[in-house]
Order: sequence, then C-alpha cells, then structure tokens
Amino acid sequence: MKKVLVTGGAGYIGSHTVVELFNHGFIPVIVDNFSNSDERVLQGLEDILGFKPILYRSDCADYQSLKDVFQAETPDAVIHFAAFKAVGESTQQPTRYYRNNIDSLLTVLELMEEFQVRDIVFSSSCTVYGQPDELPVSETSKQKDATSPYGYTKQVCERILMDACVARPELRCVLLRYFNPIGAHPSGLIGELPFGIPNNLVPYIAQTAAGIREKLVIHGNDYQTADGTCIRDYIHVCDLAMAHVRALEWIDLQTCACEAFNLGQGQGNSVKEVIDTFISVNNVPVRFEIGPRRTGDVEQVWADATKAQRVLNWKTEKSLAAALQDTWRWQQHLSK
Ligand code: UDP
Repeated sequence: MKKVLVTGGAGYIGSHTVVELFNHGFIPVIVDNFSNSDERVLQGLEDILGFKPILYRSDCADYQSLKDVFQAETPDAVIHFAAFKAVGESTQQPTRYYRNNIDSLLTVLELMEEFQVRDIVFSSSCTVYGQPDELPVSETSKQKDATSPYGYTKQVCERILMDACVARPELRCVLLRYFNPIGAHPSGLIGELPFGIPNNLVPYIAQTAAGIREKLVIHGNDYQTADGTCIRDYIHVCDLAMAHVRALEWIDLQTCACEAFNLGQGQGNSVKEVIDTFISVNNVPVRFEIGPRRTGDVEQVWADATKAQRVLNWKTEKSLAAALQDTWRWQQHLSK
C-alpha cells in the first residue's frame, strides 16, 4: 500500500481526499499546522474511517519539522494542499501569502529530492487563467496575469514544479486546477469550516439558511448572463477528492510527467441558480438581496474538463443539487 503525505490534510479538500485515498487502498498521512483548519475535522474523519488517521501537527514551510515527518514516514508520494487561499485577504497581506504558499512548496520539493520521492500532486486553481478570453477554459487556454497575490502564488508554484520536472526528469507531477469546490461528505461528518464570515457563495448561503447570517448579498445582477448574475463551474468536493486518487494512479504508470488538468463539471451555473437550487432541494428559506458587483469578479468561467476524463479516466459524478443537499446536511450537523 502506498503511503501518501497529504499536506493541508485537515483542510476542506484535503480531508475529503484523505477519505478517498483510504477508500482506494492508499495510506494517507496528514501534515497540517491548523492555521486555517479546525480540530473538529479530526473527529469527523475518525467517524468516517473508523480509526484515527496518522497526523503530524507541522508547518510544512518549516524544513526541520517536515524533515522529521519524511524521516518517520518515508512516503511514496505527496499531495500538496497546504496553502493560504483567501483571494481578498491575499491582496491585504501579499507578503504573508507569498511567503507561506511558495516556501511550503519549496520545502516539500527539497525534501522530496532528499528522500527520493518522485510523485507530487499539486493543488492548483482555475485562478491561473485570470479573466479568460474563451469559454470553456481548457488547459491550453492562455494564462493571463493573476488578479490577486493568491492567484499569482498558484501560477508561480506551477512554474516552480515545471522547472523542477525539467531539472529532475524522474519527478512525476500533476497540477490539478480546481474550479469551484462545494458540498461536503454525504455522511455530513466533514465539510468546509470557514473561519469567520465566509467569502465563498455556498458556505454563505448555508450560514444564512441556518440563521447565522442575516441575509446573503448577491454581488451584482447586471452581468451579461441570462439572469444577470455571475457564472461559475461548481464541483462536488468528493468528486474533486477522487480526482487526486486518479492522478496518483495515472502518475504511477508514467516514467516522467508534468501535466495539468482542469477539474470541473464542464458547465456553469449562475449565482441565482445556486441559491434557487439550495432553497428547493433543501426546502429552507434563504434571505437575499442584490448588492453591487464585487471587485475582481470574473463574469463567467467554466471548465473544459475533457482532458481529465480522457487521460485520468475521471469525471464528475455528483450534481449541483446533491452538493447543496450535502452542504445543508453538514451545516445542520455543525449547528447540533
Ligand atoms: N457571491 C455572491 N455573494 C456572496 C459570495 C459570493 O454573490 O456572498 C458570488 C461571487 O460574486 C461570484 C460567485 O458568487 O460570482 C462565486 O463566488 P465565490 O467567492 O464562491 O468563488 P470565486 O469568486 O472564487 O469563483
């Protein structure tokens, strides 16, 4: 059984990936400093898996503490999730974002070389495309300047990995460009745990439905879309987690690789459609009003995810409705 170091494994996508790794015969080892994750996820993971997963409370930008983990576990592969991810915050604290997101990847890569680990799956984002010229966005679409320091860290990290693969041909690397992850594990035992006021649409809807927020503000309804609200490609977090398993399975068949894949449904939904679907599938009211546009928002973006289907044998299985039901189940679990 292959041992996989999952940096940021207590986070939102990381924790769901830990479950899918275990379900598909891998041994996940979580490394997380809990700077933006919550201890409660550990209980949820234990309840789903039936045991406590291996966990190191380490900062993976800290060379010595990550080295101790490599020494103790001798992993076969790394999935690198650990990073700061709030777009707005990154514009307020750019140095903190550059320091953390880039240092942690560099430390992981140095230790992979030292311990002769060949395989890495990197958590990237559709933000690397910036404001796209063409829809859907494919892996070969032109990459524009990132619209935030966060987005720029993803572009830089991808470049670092590409350069590392040129210098060390034995490396096998997959860059997974996520569109908009939503939903929660269907058990309702793990899900997203945003600190403070959520920035993202779906956690905000869920908290409004739960009465934690008074009302949701739709950031603009004067866009050039059918209902005037922005369009995104929302993907269930469990589908996303499965893509990491497929990436590790695929990478193992390659002699060398540095390949990027878009992960999305391949279709978009508007903000208004997401709210309406949440209300109808869960049968709960959500108060909302129309507000001004949010600075930096792209009008519409969705993925061409056919490469992932063709090469990784992966596609999304779960609908928007299922994701929003799972979100609500998780929100109700949190409110207990
Ligand atoms: N959005 C909104 N109200 C909110 C949060 C988000 O109308 O309280 C909109 C936002 O303007 C965007 C969409 O929902 O059009 C998705 O936003 P999110 O922050 O979830 O993802 P991203 O902008 O990173 O794609």
